[in-house]
Amino acid sequence: MKITADVYNKTYVTGKTTALVKISAEVTQTNFIKNQIDSDLESGLHKNIQLRFPPEPNGFLHIGHAKSIFLNFSLAKEYNGKCNLRFDDTNPGKESVEYIEAIKESIEFLGFKPEKITYSSNYFADFYKYAIELINKNLAFVCFLNADKMREYRGTLTEKGENSPYRDNSIAENLANFEKMKNGEFTEGECVLRLKIDMASNFMVLRDPAIYRILKQNHHQTGDDWCIYPMYDFAHPISDGLEKITHSLCTLEFQDNRRLYDWVLENIDDFSIPNRPHQFEFSRLNLANTLMSKRKLASLIETGQVDGWSDPRLPTITGIKRRGYTKNSLQIFADRIGVSKTDSLTDMQILEDCVREDLNTNAKRSMAILSPVEVEITNYDNGLEVINAPNHPQNSDFGTREIYFSKYLYIDKNDFLEEKPNNKYKRLAIDKEVRLRNAYVIKATHFDADENGEITKIYATYDDETLGKNPSDGRKVKGVIHFVEKTTANSCEFRIYDKLFIDEIPCEDDKINPNSLIIKNGFVEKNMANAKEFEAYQFEREGYFCRDSAENLVFNQTVSLRGS
Ligand code: ATP
Ligand code: MG
Repeated sequence: MKITADVYNKTYVTGKTTALVKISAEVTQTNFIKNQIDSDLESGLHKNIQLRFPPEPNGFLHIGHAKSIFLNFSLAKEYNGKCNLRFDDTNPGKESVEYIEAIKESIEFLGFKPEKITYSSNYFADFYKYAIELINKNLAFVCFLNADKMREYRGTLTEKGENSPYRDNSIAENLANFEKMKNGEFTEGECVLRLKIDMASNFMVLRDPAIYRILKQNHHQTGDDWCIYPMYDFAHPISDGLEKITHSLCTLEFQDNRRLYDWVLENIDDFSIPNRPHQFEFSRLNLANTLMSKRKLASLIETGQVDGWSDPRLPTITGIKRRGYTKNSLQIFADRIGVSKTDSLTDMQILEDCVREDLNTNAKRSMAILSPVEVEITNYDNGLEVINAPNHPQNSDFGTREIYFSKYLYIDKNDFLEEKPNNKYKRLAIDKEVRLRNAYVIKATHFDADENGEITKIYATYDDETLGKNPSDGRKVKGVIHFVEKTTANSCEFRIYDKLFIDEIPCEDDKINPNSLIIKNGFVEKNMANAKEFEAYQFEREGYFCRDSAENLVFNQTVSLRGS
């Protein structure tokens, strides 16, 4: 196990103070979930495993969800089991069909196909039936305390709660009131259905939790069929039970809820069986300098700080896809961060290294000029010359492409120094030779500048003996710079991204990093007009980029060539 860690003691975005260990290098951990599955299969408790990934369709998925997707779907594959996609849709006011479609697309992008696609709302009639079973067992009651009173009665972590005055109502009365709730005879907030567990429990979730509330809202799947909706802690275990889930994997903050999960299943006849579902928790992914919560991401969109759910700065799966992250790079990342039971903060550099690793092997090379300045080759008069350049320096399977050379070229401003350079300088300067990548050796002679001293044009000469070979007289040319031929170049936009927040652990009301997006206008090679949407390229010496969309010639920077 390799870990480089600093301990952070900060107020994390959830508002509670936690000590987070910052992970900034490879972490390899044993997968305790696999050990559990192995032992459950060995003991014969389960013959096969059935898992599920249960997002609420209240936003787009983020890379934290990707961790859970990789975990559930990969385990199902490895054990020849199954994994459902279940939309946990019991909060109709916050959910939408748009989010459902986006979630399906994100899972497909990650390369997984759910065994079945289900909705908690498929089971509304079942939840209702089981609620009545619990009322009949004198394990549930309709409570008319308002929200403030309910809180008062609940007690605190150090003080026991008190029983609701409605707790001892008769079964008949509760059945009648629950029916009235269902029939819309009460107003929203007037009453809830609660379990009768223990107001003195050390686990707050067991202090007679509410399991049904009145919401007079239209539901995207069931329309106006229902005006009562079950709470997560009631719907989740039952949905798992109905789908015969064997291992219900969720994140650590649901540890206490496990008591309630077990209580619900053990007190409903259909599910109080040995091979009922069990919940197991793992640590959530916390990425530094960004946010991992649909609600908080939604607020960045609503306040106009970013441009929708697929803004390439966001950690949403659609955002990072548009940024140029590949399925493969995210798989490498999921494997590298592993699964543990300790909350930690993962450095963005780990994610970036994964995409570099993938793209270094799998991205074609090309040349792009982000801050252009024109160069005139004064001794060149051969018109437009075509040169074959390799698409990958180490892998000839990538083939070659045609690039162009002529009297007029663009190079990057930062590759020219007007003052006399020291010996270590390896780019272009007056009287100094440099190789143009894939082409000739050139030497600058003089330049034009505007009234502000900005260089507007560079003049150079070329050595016509140096295409693909060193100068014959043994002159040493140390530097190589990239270029694009002027008349064939496509002008385009480059979007350069930086971390979304300057703070590693942003607070709720922090503003985003003002330099999180910088736009540059420059040039790419002629054939880049044919680049496909999201297709990855290494712009040599600049970084990895992908085309933003088929409609425009915009390139999003995925990541720089090297980490800082
Ligand atoms: P959010 O606050 O972003 O909505 P959530 O946990 O409420 O997150 P759900 O849609 O309920 O989101 O989550 C679906 C599944 O994804 C759950 O099993 C949840 O535990 C898991 N998940 C969510 N966030 C993370 C994360 N950061 N790391 C790992 N798993 C996560
Ligand atoms: Mg949620």
